[in-house]
Amino acid sequence: MPKLGTAAGTLEVLRKYDFHFQKKYGQNFLIDPNKLEAIVEAAGVGEEDCVLEIGPGIGTLTQYLAERAGSVIAVEIDQALIPILSDTLSEYPNVTVINEDILKVDIARLSREKNAGRPFKVVANLPYYITTPIIMKLFESHAPIDLITIMVQTEVAERMQEGPGSREYGALSLAVQYYSRPEIVAHVPAGCFIPAPKVGSSVIRLTRYEEPPVTVKDEAFLFRLIRASFNQRRKTLINGLGNAEGLAVTKAEAAQALRTLGIPENIRGEALSLEQFARLSDLLCQKEAEKKIPADPQTKKNTRIDRQEDE
Ligand code: SAM
Repeated sequence: MPKLGTAAGTLEVLRKYDFHFQKKYGQNFLIDPNKLEAIVEAAGVGEEDCVLEIGPGIGTLTQYLAERAGSVIAVEIDQALIPILSDTLSEYPNVTVINEDILKVDIARLSREKNAGRPFKVVANLPYYITTPIIMKLFESHAPIDLITIMVQTEVAERMQEGPGSREYGALSLAVQYYSRPEIVAHVPAGCFIPAPKVGSSVIRLTRYEEPPVTVKDEAFLFRLIRASFNQRRKTLINGLGNAEGLAVTKAEAAQALRTLGIPENIRGEALSLEQFARLSDLLCQKEAEKKIPADPQTKKNTRIDRQEDE
């Protein structure tokens, strides 16, 4: 089987299997050998690595990865691609294809079963319709992953790198920068794919921190606070938090916390740095904890949020 990463090689496989693209799965296959090399190079894949690839498609990037990595686990949702992959990857015994939705895969378990619990390198040309949920899953599941090298929409790649004050800065920027150091490593024009996407694409590398750059008492609260702060962008932070669902914090408490930190009370969420969010989170999670109702020995439910959700 010749290498797939060209227009001719890809079209031949599509014709052979009478494959029809599924728009709902964000299928845009790479056809540029230079860009494929650049992705594998940026990911620094070597024999010691087990790569987790999300969405192998017809196996184009998978072939490049399999030639450099110790092993590759490729998770593909589209059942129609599975027989194609067993053909295009037949010469690579170090590849395992799993027909599953990546959002449903237990990545920590996969690492225990396939890589003795050691960290994966994630490499992917991501389906753009679920870029953010996939990235959040990779980070929030605390699965062993030390490097993520992914093709995403250029606008989303830029958002991951933005800092306070920019229009693109938001919950995704803060989450990515809490867990990793982001670096855009290549831009990829639409003509490098079949079919060509309507948006520009970029490859971004996220190097996972061993320890986050800020410490907080309650990481889950920090992310609830960040989400609430960007849910109502046109409001000041205080007004946004005072109305936020799932956050038991009043406007007065948010104002008091900002005063304690020496931050102006009319500030908007997009002006706060990760460090400032971390300090605010520590003050407000304390306030929320003070409101908790003592545990009911029968139900063991003890938080005000639990009770609100039950009602
Ligand atoms: N890696 C191939 C390439 O570079 O040519 C294909 C990339 S294409 C942009 C995205 C791939 O992700 C498609 O094969 C699509 O079927 C697959 N995909 C979409 N949603 C998925 C999901 N939830 N879980 C796993 N794979 C998914």
